[in-house]
Amino acid sequence: MPTIIDGKTTAKKLRESVLHQTEQLKAQGVVPGLAVILVGDDPASQIYVRNKEKACADCGFYSEKHALPASTTEEELLALIDRLNRDDRISGILCQLPVPGHIDEQKVILAIDPKKDVDAFHPQNVGRIMTGDILFAPCTPAGVMTLLDTYGIDPKGKKCVVVGRSNIVGKPQAMLLLHRHGTVTICHSRTVDLPAETRQADILVAAIGKPKFITADMVKEGAVVIDVGMDRDENGKLCGDVDYDNVAPKCSFITPVPGGVGPMTIATLMQNTLLAAKLQHGLQ
Ligand code: NAP
Repeated sequence: MPTIIDGKTTAKKLRESVLHQTEQLKAQGVVPGLAVILVGDDPASQIYVRNKEKACADCGFYSEKHALPASTTEEELLALIDRLNRDDRISGILCQLPVPGHIDEQKVILAIDPKKDVDAFHPQNVGRIMTGDILFAPCTPAGVMTLLDTYGIDPKGKKCVVVGRSNIVGKPQAMLLLHRHGTVTICHSRTVDLPAETRQADILVAAIGKPKFITADMVKEGAVVIDVGMDRDENGKLCGDVDYDNVAPKCSFITPVPGGVGPMTIATLMQNTLLAAKLQHGLQ
């Protein structure tokens, strides 16, 4: 049977380490602060924002939530970001995406000061992820790398297959694996023979957004399977992109959903906010 990668415990330890470092920073008069902006009333976004606020409290951070109505104009949102960019109490700013259609998401991403861009979505930070000179770690993919490291899984020389090429997960995940000397293939909806690609994987990362899409016949015996997906099955129950019950017996390691990658994303965000506070006070 596989080793089940415990993201909950790993994330808890990471958050405890952030809390410890925050206490040391506070002794020097610096309090990390995160501003979270939410536009509209998307229920999933509201849950994500609530979880981020709670994580801030657990880590001893100052936090501000800006819940704006869906009718907020682009100008109003950009003005808020500009104010937060200049606010010394705020180390990190994130605007929960997606924003309503009348707001240009790209303009929002560009408006956030790259030094406060703890989600690492600004092109300046994206470029640094590409070159390997990383300032802020991309939260979900970096969380995956922390899990691999925690369980002694070294991507070096391994065949890594990432299914999904989004800017927030698939692409940066492929880059992080490449920086660690994995031989990386990125698959997507136009990949001609997906099972043939995934069956090559020593490390398979699924970031697709389709419940139980990766089936046992798509996985090599002994593979490490990382499931980034957060989906709902036919009964509305939370599940991943991997058909866990049938895939797990073939794996050496596998992440469950929930309790795998999910908790790592917020823990990495906390790590980034702490780093932002240190950078802004010349302590890093
Ligand atoms: P996304 O932007 O919708 O991207 C999905 C990717 O999957 C796309 O690149 C798409 O290919 C590919 N894809 C879709 N159908 C496919 C198919 N039949 N065969 C092969 N590839 C296919 O999603 P995302 O934002 O990356 O998120 C992916 C999943 O991760 C979602 O379930 C999301 O909820 C979850 N997620 C979890 C966390 C976390 O903290 N755990 C964080 C972020 C996201 P094309 O590019 O060709 O369309």
